[in-house]
Amino acid sequence: MQSLSTIWATRGDWFTSDGREQSIKDYIFLTNQLVWKRQASFLVAAILAAFYFDPISIFASYFVVILTEGLDELLGRKSKAWDGRDPVVGRQILKRIALNTAVSAVTISVFIINIAVQQASVGHFTPLFFLFSASVFAAIYNSQIMGILILRLSIYGFAFLFIALLDVFRYRPPLSSHIWLEFFTIIFVLYFISDISLKFYLGYQERREQMKLIKEEIEHTKAALEVKSRFLATVSHELRTPLTSIIGSLELINNDKLGLLHPGLKPLISIATRNGKRLAVLIEDLLDMQKLEAGEVAFHFKPINANNLVSEAIESTSGYANKLGIHVTTEPCEEDCQITGDHNRLIQVMVNLLSNALKFSYEGGAVKVRVENLCGRIRISVHDKGLGIPNGAKDCVFGKFSQVDSSDVRKVGGTGLGLNITKQIVERHNATIDYVSELGVGSTFYIEFDRLTNGSRPGANFEPLAKSA
Ligand code: ADP
Repeated sequence: MQSLSTIWATRGDWFTSDGREQSIKDYIFLTNQLVWKRQASFLVAAILAAFYFDPISIFASYFVVILTEGLDELLGRKSKAWDGRDPVVGRQILKRIALNTAVSAVTISVFIINIAVQQASVGHFTPLFFLFSASVFAAIYNSQIMGILILRLSIYGFAFLFIALLDVFRYRPPLSSHIWLEFFTIIFVLYFISDISLKFYLGYQERREQMKLIKEEIEHTKAALEVKSRFLATVSHELRTPLTSIIGSLELINNDKLGLLHPGLKPLISIATRNGKRLAVLIEDLLDMQKLEAGEVAFHFKPINANNLVSEAIESTSGYANKLGIHVTTEPCEEDCQITGDHNRLIQVMVNLLSNALKFSYEGGAVKVRVENLCGRIRISVHDKGLGIPNGAKDCVFGKFSQVDSSDVRKVGGTGLGLNITKQIVERHNATIDYVSELGVGSTFYIEFDRLTNGSRPGANFEPLAKSA
């Protein structure tokens, strides 16, 4: 009873255009997908039957079945083009499915009954088993539209009963005969097929309901992400302008050209300036991340010499390296090391890798940057002898707002966004980024690009430029 009420409940969904469209599309998709499986079983059954029974009638029914398969294929194309809006088209498709089902089920039944009729002896194992397989196949794979499933199974049911009654009428046996046993077994099998059909139908409805919920959840999540993104962009923008003027003013006060600043205030102003700058870096990172994710960063690809790129990035971070007393050395590539990229964005990538290497090195340590040609790939690696990264921290290293050591006792600052942004930029260059590291020994971060040869066009393989920032 409960199953019947569930069917009744799911009928409501069927009458909504969404439910109907989905069921029809699922039905046709599966029917078309299984076409070769069905063809193979039809062919095997036809060859087998043709060997033992009248081949002409067997192959005649086989060809009608093949014809309905062709019609199913055509129907598949029509339903693919249907956007689900026009109910008239939906009804037409449904009528055609019903017609195809009726023709195909009647032909299969005639094909099987034909075998049973030709069997002179008592018992119809082969035709009954064919019918049973066809019914189970329908129950499993045609459960998307209840009406169509019932239509097909009813036709098979008639075929079952016809075969069951064939020997009863032929021999008019007493109730103790095995012919009656076969008859009652068939009735039992019919009940079994109806039961599994119902189970598959309800299973399909349940899966569809779950899919609907998942889709709704995804839509909600997308909408929430969109709001978060816009909020982040607006807040970051609004913070950036006043913060720039606050930092500028603090720097002016700190310079104290007129000597008006009380000496006791100087350290406080320095702390405020430093924290203001850290905040500015965080805001820049947030804006970058948001723009990259929204595809709003325009990349201007052109040929770049990897050695020059490295020199420029080292130059930009030399102040920081000097402050920490870390010596940065380079090992340039001796061969041609042209790559394609957006110059400013690649400098941003290199500066991030270098500042991390410096930041996580011990004072007075050493950082080495190497450019090499690895069989047509240009690898730039930044090697340090610093803290190192524990095993299994890759997701954390390249994740958002994630730091391997995020404890309160962490000595070095940072937003945990740098490598996530770096990875996104690198991937937009069709390049890769990775690292090897050993805790307490050091780390090597490396990025690999395709080498630009004379034949290759700069930026030819890259995604189209995103909307301008
Ligand atoms: P952060 O602003 O914290 O530096 P990143 O995204 O640049 O953020 O780096 C993420 C985390 O990866 C860092 O917090 C650090 O734990 C780890 N990491 C990155 N580079 C190195 C390095 N060269 N040596 C050790 N740890 C590193």
